[in-house]
Amino acid sequence: MTDFNEDGISRRRFLGAGLALAGTAFSAASLDAFAQQGAPRRKVVVWSEGTAPKSVYPNDVNTAIAEGLKGLRNWDVVTASINDPEQGLTDELLKSANVLIWWGHKRHDDVKQELVTKIVNRVKDDGMGFIATHSAHYSKPLKQILGTNCGWKYYINDGAKLSVVVKDSTHPIARGVKDFDCPKTERYGDPFEVPKPEAFVFDGIYTLPNGTTEHSQQGLTWTVGKGRVFYFQPGHEDYPMYFQEEIRAIFRNAVRWVGPRRANPANV
Ligand code: ZN
Repeated sequence: MTDFNEDGISRRRFLGAGLALAGTAFSAASLDAFAQQGAPRRKVVVWSEGTAPKSVYPNDVNTAIAEGLKGLRNWDVVTASINDPEQGLTDELLKSANVLIWWGHKRHDDVKQELVTKIVNRVKDDGMGFIATHSAHYSKPLKQILGTNCGWKYYINDGAKLSVVVKDSTHPIARGVKDFDCPKTERYGDPFEVPKPEAFVFDGIYTLPNGTTEHSQQGLTWTVGKGRVFYFQPGHEDYPMYFQEEIRAIFRNAVRWVGPRRANPANV
């Protein structure tokens, strides 16, 4: 394990305690098996549309986000693309997903309504968690889950610096996250046409090339039916934001938070 998130650290502490108490040499593999026995496996599916530039995202956005989730204990991480059969989400995969992460930009209109309806129902009726990021603000699933147009006031790709500000440090998605900067971003401006959020977790300050600053909401949550929803604004495809460790930590926290309290809700 190369990822030193809080779960990884606590597992190491457990390993140390186990060795001291029992005086028995457990292998790492047997400890992993023990940890997995104690908690049911969950599944997060990371979906994107294959339109990000290869120079920035050689294996597309879904893989970059998925790599950042590898430190999640007891979670299986699966990538899916609109270019896969059934637009990446067979009934079987969708029913087994506890969380769906969505990144789209140029191909929103290509996503079939039949699939969107299934996603919306999984969130509202079954409690599947849903995370939309950056240009997925305008995706069919987010718009239909929230029931609003989900447009921003403006979209300007001038490579402004983004300072992400933790607005609600008590929220689980902000756990362990301090304010941080992204060197370049595309900025979306408030207001954001969405229902009143349950939590305003991250704010943002843009520093424009001319030195002036503006602020815009970066991370918001809702509960819709049985499902939890998180929108996270950073993630324009020209910039390697999904490789940034602070953003990866936010995604790990968000998966844990939007994930239903019980695994595989369709099967219980
Ligand atoms: Zn963008």
